[in-house]
Amino acid sequence: MFEPSYLKLYKSGELSERSRILESMLADCYICPKDCRINRQKNEIAACYSGNEPVVSSYCVHYGEEPGLAGTEEFSNENGIGNIFFGNCNLRCVYCQNYEISQNHKSEKKNEVTRERLAGMMIELQNKNVNAIGFVSPTHFVPQIVSAVNIAAGQGLNLPLIYNTNSYDSAEVLKLLDGIIDIYLPDLKYSEDEYGYRYSKIKNYVRFSRAAIAEMYRQTGSGLVIENGLIKKGLLIRHLILPNDLAGSYDTLKFISELDNKISVSLMSQYYPVHKALTTDLLSRNIRQGEYEKVLKWMDELCLENGYLQEFESENYYRPDFNDRSEPFKK
Ligand code: SF4
Repeated sequence: MFEPSYLKLYKSGELSERSRILESMLADCYICPKDCRINRQKNEIAACYSGNEPVVSSYCVHYGEEPGLAGTEEFSNENGIGNIFFGNCNLRCVYCQNYEISQNHKSEKKNEVTRERLAGMMIELQNKNVNAIGFVSPTHFVPQIVSAVNIAAGQGLNLPLIYNTNSYDSAEVLKLLDGIIDIYLPDLKYSEDEYGYRYSKIKNYVRFSRAAIAEMYRQTGSGLVIENGLIKKGLLIRHLILPNDLAGSYDTLKFISELDNKISVSLMSQYYPVHKALTTDLLSRNIRQGEYEKVLKWMDELCLENGYLQEFESENYYRPDFNDRSEPFKK
């Protein structure tokens, strides 16, 4: 039976050492590629509006992830993922479907929690019989997450850990997650920096995201460890098709296939305009069937055969309602 490797690191003391190294990086913060170099241990604030304490906007069971994560009827394991949504995301996507909780840095309610409380959330979710714990928008809180995992491992946490990121991660920080994270679930969003800046207010997205994916791949390879229909370990790259090909889908898929065409890809068609995208010309509509089919053809040409394809017109199923923060993703 699969045992997450962070448990071995916990027993050997290595998890505690990684937590110490990562926490020390907060004193001159270069946790993400923005490289702000401020002292977050003293609650200095820069681009991610986040100080020493982690900000958790919501934590809940999420049934809408890929079947290999959320579970299936076939294997009687539709238990969902215990997702922990971190606030103050380091990207500012104008079309973010979770914008109510990910871009809340101007809100008066800060939702800061201690590392001990964050560990408690993981245990609470595990007690709900979820298939794994998912960290959503975790990049700027990696030190706090690893410290909390170290606490939770001592309290009986034993589920696989999912790192669900926009891929604007530091490869150096990801190296310190080797053996701690079981499943990398990165979203590869753009293949042109111009669009990354225009629609997500981020510089040099292409270079940093591709370096991050290459590091994740170095750790996991392309094979997935699957037990009873559930992914326990590996790399699953998401790619959301945007209208007018603003995601640069061909170049993104080509990058993945050149890295290794056995990598699993989750192709997402669920885009619908929300937030500022409603008034952003090229993003103010759903994707068209022709756009979806063109990307399917490219996947075929590039021999990317592993992973998941989201059916066209599936956006309603995925639409979260954050007015109910305890259960925004209903079954
Ligand atoms: S985690 Fe925040 S403070 Fe640190 S480098 Fe990134 S944006 Fe800057």
